[in-house]
Amino acid sequence: MQCYGSPLYVYSRTDIEKNWREFDSAFGQHPHLVCYAVKANSNIAVLNVLAKIGAGFDIVSIGELERVLAAGGEASKCVFSGVAKTQAEIKRGLEVGIRCFNVESAAELVRIEQVASSLNTQASISIRVNPNVDAKTHPYISTGLKENKFGVDIDDALELYKTAQQSEHLLIKGLDCHIGSQITDVSPFIDALDKVLDLIEVLKNQGIDIEHLDLGGGVGITYDNEVPLDIAAYVAQVLKKVGDLEIILEPGRAIVGNAGVFITKVEFLKQNSDKSFALIDGAMNDLLRPAFYNAYHHVLPVRENSKGVDAKWDLVGPICETGDFLAKDRHLSLSEGDYLALMSAGAYGFTMSSNYNSRPRVAEVMVSDSEHHLIRKRETIQDLFNTEYLIND
Ligand SMILES: *Cc1c(COP(=O)(O)O)cnc(C)c1O
Repeated sequence: MQCYGSPLYVYSRTDIEKNWREFDSAFGQHPHLVCYAVKANSNIAVLNVLAKIGAGFDIVSIGELERVLAAGGEASKCVFSGVAKTQAEIKRGLEVGIRCFNVESAAELVRIEQVASSLNTQASISIRVNPNVDAKTHPYISTGLKENKFGVDIDDALELYKTAQQSEHLLIKGLDCHIGSQITDVSPFIDALDKVLDLIEVLKNQGIDIEHLDLGGGVGITYDNEVPLDIAAYVAQVLKKVGDLEIILEPGRAIVGNAGVFITKVEFLKQNSDKSFALIDGAMNDLLRPAFYNAYHHVLPVRENSKGVDAKWDLVGPICETGDFLAKDRHLSLSEGDYLALMSAGAYGFTMSSNYNSRPRVAEVMVSDSEHHLIRKRETIQDLFNTEYLIND
């Protein structure tokens, strides 16, 4: 903090690599690709570290695609998800030769075929089906139920595959699903797998061959006392059922979530008869998860403070919203000026941050062995409005 200032995100390269390798090595010699879901943490240094050890990438926008390319990632290892891909995004994906479009609707299939046809090329596609399983996670991050906007109904997929098979500009490569996020029980994944394997059988009987099965991301991590599923056991269960089908996974949170912390400083302590507030320099614009999902992040003092004020503290930021809290009722010994670490903040932390209340976005640092590197400079006050214009009259 001394040299980078506060608030701050800090990531561990060692942990990011270890987490990706845990997925990768679980497959052994079975054909597979572990595509890191870029939206969890899209800093180009994070992407570069993963590209160097062989990761593929799951992208959801042209911005993420360009980040991957700038970070040295291979287009041929990118799968492109997302419910409303624009013509420009599809065109760029085709130009750079991404591995596959994960198609989320009939209308999108038509659009991809049109763009591929106008470029006189073929687009590799996979249909994202909605297996209608309940991931039993927070409703905002559950995506595999019929009422969600994602994917096509599993019962409608056959028709879409038939349409794709008719087109000389579409190449059927895969089938995919992604049922939600922060899932800590293996059973919803296996329920979804059984459903998509049934569909693959139906497709095969119709002469439609699937080369890869993409089971999405969603593997949960420990924030509080959750017991996450065993990745090796999950992959082993998958491999028992899939024959020699190539498997793609799209983990995001499980790669970076526990590899990052958010550092914040105590500005003031404020106690009344009912409540103890620690007013910190970090806020909901920097780390949205507590305000947005009522998410829990463990809080540790960067240095133990035995002379502080012992209480159950709410950690609240300077933003003018009652929802601006990062933690509630935490037993800590605090003094003004203390630094605190919000743990498990590597996923959906910086990427969901904003400039709300005209707060510059924070710096990001990566620790690599005994070295530390600035991987994103803190925004300046000038950065906040240097792309804005006055109207002249
Ligand atoms: C968000 C998302 C992921 C990553 O989810 P995690 O829970 O971070 O693993 C993977 N695939 C798709 C299609 C997604 O939308």
